[in-house]
Amino acid sequence: MKIEQYGKSSISVIKQKKSFFNDNDKHIEAQRKISNIYKQQPIRLCCKNCDKPLKKENDFIKDGIEYKVCDICTHLNGAYEDTNEFCNAIYTGDEGKDYAQNYKVSDIEDFNYRLSSIYIPKAEFLYTSLVNDNAAPHKMKYLDVGAGSGYFVGALNKIGLKNISGTEVSRYQVDFGNTMIGSDHLSVHEINDTNNLPKESDVDVVSLIGVLEHLQDPRGAMEYIKKNNRIKYIYISVPLFSLSVFLEMISNDAFHRQLSGGHTHLYTKKSLEYLADEFGFDIISEWWFGADIIDLYRQIFIDMKKSQCSKKIRNLFQDMITPLIDSMQFELDKKYASSEVHVLLKRK
Ligand SMILES: [Zn+2]
Repeated sequence: MKIEQYGKSSISVIKQKKSFFNDNDKHIEAQRKISNIYKQQPIRLCCKNCDKPLKKENDFIKDGIEYKVCDICTHLNGAYEDTNEFCNAIYTGDEGKDYAQNYKVSDIEDFNYRLSSIYIPKAEFLYTSLVNDNAAPHKMKYLDVGAGSGYFVGALNKIGLKNISGTEVSRYQVDFGNTMIGSDHLSVHEINDTNNLPKESDVDVVSLIGVLEHLQDPRGAMEYIKKNNRIKYIYISVPLFSLSVFLEMISNDAFHRQLSGGHTHLYTKKSLEYLADEFGFDIISEWWFGADIIDLYRQIFIDMKKSQCSKKIRNLFQDMITPLIDSMQFELDKKYASSEVHVLLKRK
């Protein structure tokens, strides 16, 4: 039976994303810089998800960028291509960092807190979904593509899985992650090889946690996975065209968390189902949760600050909304209207 899970406590997210409240102007500046590069790229002609031609008309303009909803699969597309130049400009920022630097105690504490609060639940959901499908998670092999600093790989390790590996383009993040986890689970791959990785991988489960939306050719990655019959499951987390995006349409003062930077397109329930079906997979479990209400709260809070509301008023607002965040978000999650989803796909 298919698992459908909704909601997640927001408190750890709020604690770890304080910078979105405190450093709003800095985040907006970075957002504008990337938007300006994105706007200079050639026009995107085909939907990033279904590859069918996109209509000419735009549906909305946000931060100077035009967006259109695909008539075929409902995927939300930015009007420009994410070219090599664009990807190089935004994804290779770690290159100058010192690989062999000594990490601070606070780095280790922050790493473990993030791993435990955010990534263990993701790992646990995968584990439960596999068990629900009568699979034996301990006997399976896992590859995490776009592993970043190894939070998800570290979480799989923590819940007791053994045959795990992760791969990532940033040498800095790989070194940092391996040091933090205390293993050599992570390795580096060339950015152009990302799609090739699943081609020959001898694993049962490929995970793409917050990765598919950043790939230049997500369909290419899916095609290689499809061709490798050894891979039985794909575990995906993607950002969605949700309430947060509507909030971003009406405000330029608060940082756009959902549709900006490396997110030049967003999934919908329907576009994700389209993708799974096209590449020969069934969705066997779903976990819907999001940060839309935190975004709403943040946007109002920032607008209040800019409109010179007193600290007392802002505190009143904060005290009123904070206890409501999870229950309000839960209503969105239950209706598949949240900003994020985790799905486990199984080969048909
Ligand atoms: Zn489409």
